[in-house]
Amino acid sequence: NLSKRLTLVAEQIPSGSRLADIGSDHAYLPCFALRRGLVSSAIAGEVNEGPFQSAVEQVKKLNYEDKIYVKKGNGLEVISAGEVDVITIAGMGGPLIASILNNGKDKLEGVKRLVLQPNVAANQIRVWLEANDWLLINELILEEDGIIYEILVAERTGPNPYHEQDYQTELLLGPFLMKEKNDAFKKKWTNEVGEWKKILSQFEKAKQTEEVLIKKQDLIERITRVEEVIQ
Ligand code: SAM
Repeated sequence: NLSKRLTLVAEQIPSGSRLADIGSDHAYLPCFALRRGLVSSAIAGEVNEGPFQSAVEQVKKLNYEDKIYVKKGNGLEVISAGEVDVITIAGMGGPLIASILNNGKDKLEGVKRLVLQPNVAANQIRVWLEANDWLLINELILEEDGIIYEILVAERTGPNPYHEQDYQTELLLGPFLMKEKNDAFKKKWTNEVGEWKKILSQFEKAKQTEEVLIKKQDLIERITRVEEVIQ
């Protein structure tokens, strides 16, 4: 059975898409998407030999070799421009996902939708999307086995999800997630605020150098901003 996390990622793929799943590991996501009829074909990209072999074996086991092409390569290197409609990148840190997209910008031509599931620092992906003319069209947040995951969906066109006066908070928390404010969201940010408060109390004990004062001010601002949303 596919994890709830990857199931939700797959469910963001419009039916009949041509997919590239980058960092596919066992190729569970493209195999599930094909079985569900969400994709007509898929590329499973992997940079590392072990996960690449796992993907090859999984695809062979399910007899999907005529529809799912497992390719070894770094990031978007495994696709050519115009070859896919949707790209999924799941289970990596936000900065790595952003760098994969950034290094493969020329391959994004013709891609209609990005479905990204960062394990940490989703805000860095929001910033990258903004800087590269992708519009966030939906966000999901879920808890599975005690871990909280965020899923970001972006397209080329759509309404601007941000509001000028809340822009910084929305980049950090996610404009859709902030509006929905479900339990996983509240839990994640309650935990984060708790961590920031611990760090803040450490700074209170330290020598109040200019650097410490600046860091304290930054933490206090962030704590206030997030508490206003979750309370
Ligand atoms: N996407 C799967 C998931 O969400 O369950 C697997 C996540 S796994 C933690 C991350 C995978 O990304 C690893 O198999 C790793 O080899 C692969 N990876 C890391 N950097 C990559 C890159 N630049 N290009 C392609 N694959 C990469």
